Amino acid sequence: MVIKEGQTIKTDLYSKPTDAKRYVHFRSAHPSHTKRNIPYNLARCIAMIVENPQMRTKHFQELAKNLGECGYPKRLVQDSIAKFQNIDSNELRTLKTRQKKDLIVFVTDYNPNNPNFIETIKKSIPMLNGSDKMMKVMSQKTLIHSQRQPKNLKLLLTKSNFESSQSIPQNKPKIVAKCGKVRCKKLCNMLIEGDSFKMSNGKILCPNTLLDCDSKFVIYCLKCEGCGENYIGSTERQNDTHRSFTENCNKEGALGANKHFFECANGLEVKFKVFPFKHIFSRSEKILRIEEEKYIKKFNPKLNRL
Ligand SMILES: [Zn+2]
Ligand SMILES: [Zn+2]
Repeated sequence: MVIKEGQTIKTDLYSKPTDAKRYVHFRSAHPSHTKRNIPYNLARCIAMIVENPQMRTKHFQELAKNLGECGYPKRLVQDSIAKFQNIDSNELRTLKTRQKKDLIVFVTDYNPNNPNFIETIKKSIPMLNGSDKMMKVMSQKTLIHSQRQPKNLKLLLTKSNFESSQSIPQNKPKIVAKCGKVRCKKLCNMLIEGDSFKMSNGKILCPNTLLDCDSKFVIYCLKCEGCGENYIGSTERQNDTHRSFTENCNKEGALGANKHFFECANGLEVKFKVFPFKHIFSRSEKILRIEEEKYIKKFNPKLNRL
């Protein structure tokens, strides 16, 4: 709020009538530093806006009262206020440029019952200095711990998107087709096209909608280019199947189906091909996994049993 006083202007704090002055309760489950910062920042805000000492004191008193009602310890509130009581507003208004740090952010869900991993990690970092390469990388970095809010009851019970069977497109042909994009050559090459696919055990898979290289939330069947045996899997991301499998089965020491592709189709550039056949319209990961299990059980592909 700006007040005109003759030739000069004065600033004062203004809050809307609807401002209930409710701050995060001090006993609320938040990291302690988050809550301790609140009185500090509110006091700083007052000192920055309000120049007049009497008005400033009045606002500080109100702040102490409001924070007291939200469970903040008197001592903490008074210490925060004392820091800003006599500071010049102009000093707080000048922009300070901080040196940018090269950060590595370790993010976890906030849970006061969790052990303090970050201290353990910080203590372990010097071990990396044993390697010259790692020492070079790590010497520039600062590790910080960031704690995200875990899902509360409301977030657990509500969803930001709706599931609806009406979103199933009726007019699309139920086939697998290559996307045909120039950049996609590699994936297009691995895709088996058509309205059905016969597995090595004679069972037939039919796509439930139009599927291509870009399809997400799909259940797919892989065919080994060496022996023709099959593997059923699922992915919620596009192109992921091809990429992760191609990368993994080109490595020695791969596991399961990857190991099989590595050995059986050794020497072939394309070690397996892929036939996506079921799109999960709800885009629910849980349903995707359940459906995947169902198909593996029903069709019992050999490479899933490795
Ligand atoms: Zn493609
Ligand atoms: Zn094979």
